[in-house]
Amino acid sequence: MAHRTLKRVPLDFDWPLGQEWEGYVNPHKTLDCPSCDMTGYNEATRGIASKGFDEFTQDEVDALAKVERLRSNDTDTPLENPTAEKVNVLHKAGLIKIDEMVRYVLLKARAERFGVYGYCPECDGSREVFEDEETKRLHHSWKEYEPPIGEGWQLWETVSDGSPLSPAFASVEELADWSAKNDSSGLNREQWLELFREGKEAVEASSIMSLSK
Ligand SMILES: [Zn+2]
Repeated sequence: MAHRTLKRVPLDFDWPLGQEWEGYVNPHKTLDCPSCDMTGYNEATRGIASKGFDEFTQDEVDALAKVERLRSNDTDTPLENPTAEKVNVLHKAGLIKIDEMVRYVLLKARAERFGVYGYCPECDGSREVFEDEETKRLHHSWKEYEPPIGEGWQLWETVSDGSPLSPAFASVEELADWSAKNDSSGLNREQWLELFREGKEAVEASSIMSLSK
């Protein structure tokens, strides 16, 4: 089932259904870095990445072997005592596993050999920039906060950062009725009640119960 959470909120809590709770969404937005094609790398490092990795050198093979990422495509076991010569033969035959981690290790080893490895000067590797310094400061000082706690029972989804799905009900039974009728998970009233009641102690202790299954 989709991820659901039960929350205790005031009965007159009126945050729009299906809209992420404002306390979970930082209003001081970041922008995509315009300088590094969202890679986070400096220009020279990006240039190396764009050429691809057809031929490995021994220092690159050593860097991969050190983190046990030099693996054959079919067995997914690390190669033993790999030499660049052997690895290149296997690679040309399509027998070396090339994933994101391998590309990262290769890029770093190669760019370091050329003495150019480094982050984008504009975003410092974060791939994010800000409209201005004030927005940046506000973004970093902003903290998440929970909705207010109250007597009501409300069903939330946690696929996004979190939004309410149901009205706030005065009793857990009413919420179970509503959930059985309206929630896409297909659980019946008794199943909802069981989940809600199992979590009752946790609900009272923290106001939140995870129903993810
Ligand atoms: Zn950048």
